[in-house]
Order: sequence, then C-alpha cells, then structure tokens
Amino acid sequence: MRVLVVEDEPRIASFVKQALTEQGFDVLVAATGDEGYDLAQHESFDLLVLDIMLPGRDGLSILRNLRAQRNRVPVILLTARGELHERLEGLDLGADDYLCKPFFVEELIARIHAVFRRAAGDGLSLRQAGALTVNLSTREVRREGRAVDLTAREFGLLEYLLRSPGRVLPRTQILEHVWGYDFDPQSNLVDVTIRRLRKKIESEGEEPLIETIRGVGYRFRETAGSRR
Ligand code: CA
Repeated sequence: MRVLVVEDEPRIASFVKQALTEQGFDVLVAATGDEGYDLAQHESFDLLVLDIMLPGRDGLSILRNLRAQRNRVPVILLTARGELHERLEGLDLGADDYLCKPFFVEELIARIHAVFRRAAGDGLSLRQAGALTVNLSTREVRREGRAVDLTAREFGLLEYLLRSPGRVLPRTQILEHVWGYDFDPQSNLVDVTIRRLRKKIESEGEEPLIETIRGVGYRFRETAGSRR
C-alpha cells in the first residue's frame, strides 16, 4: 500500500512517515502543496494524507482538482483546530475522512484502515456505465444526473446486469439470480421487468443501455465511458 503524505510541518511529517512505515506502508512525503499535487497527479497511491494549510497549493485545492480529474484516491485530511469550514468543504469535495491536529498516530492508522475497508466495499458499491451511476449500497441510481426511482426487483435486475457488462445473460439465468429458483422458466417476468427498467433508465433520446439478444436474453451494453 502506497501512501502519500502532504504535510509541511517536518515534525508531523516525520512521525507519520515513521509510524506508517512501521505498519508496512510505502510512504512518500511532500512538503509543499505543489509537490504533493504533482505527485498525486502523476503517480499512483492507495491513499493520501493531506494537510489543508500548505505552502503553495492548499490541501482543498489539491483535493478539488484531483476529484475534478475523476481521481478517486482515498483522502484523509489533516485539519487544524478551528478549521470547521475547511473540514466541511473537504468532506463536500470528496475527502473520505479527516483528523484534527494534534492527533495520535494510532488514530490516523485506524482511520486509514477504515478508509481502506470502505474503499474495498465501494469498489463493489459504485458502478458507472456511461451516463448511468449506480450506488449499490444506497441504491441510488442516476442517469445524466437525473435520479431514477426503481422498485426493489428492478434494482436487483439492473444490479445483476451491471455485474457483467458486455456479457449476454440468458433469461433463465437472470430469472434464477434475480427472482430465485421458484419461478417458472417460461414466465415472462424478465421481459416485463426489463421493459419497465428500460422506460426508467432510457428516456427519450438517451442512448440505450440494455440490448435484447433475440431468443436468448439480455446484455448490458459496454459503452465507451463504461468503468467500474
Ligand atoms: Ca500545515
């Protein structure tokens, strides 16, 4: 696990580096905002520990720019007492957590592990396929930013299709996974629910997301912008 610590106070930077190294992390320290931003942009890290007040570019501006570039690296902000506004702004910008100075390094380590655990879950929880964003934990679905309201079954079906974009899923297999084994394979439940789902996620003029494979089943289209 590679961690970038962007912190201008040498004492804090060095005890954080030492503690994280002892934990087996590969730690890089940047002492200015510009250096930190440069590293975060051009190298790959599993997590950033980001101080807010930095010489040069400040922590929030680094975070804002990374998120604008769709860089979703987990970020823990280090904030000074009294920086409530900055802290809230940081969370708004997509920071995963924050820690107020002074802090115990054990707490930082615990937060890092918690963020990693959440990130591992999020790998499964947030799916994006073209203009469609699906949050599997909150069950929120958005198409081009518009909220889509799905029934539990429609959501289950979409979730199942999304797990294998580009793969043809036979009707019987969809029925088994989404409805369970007790349903008659001859039933048209799958087709009916697909039709309802399409109405909701493919509005007039929007790119179709679900393809019908005649005589077989359905496929969630692998669009150019598709990513997990
Ligand atoms: Ca500072």
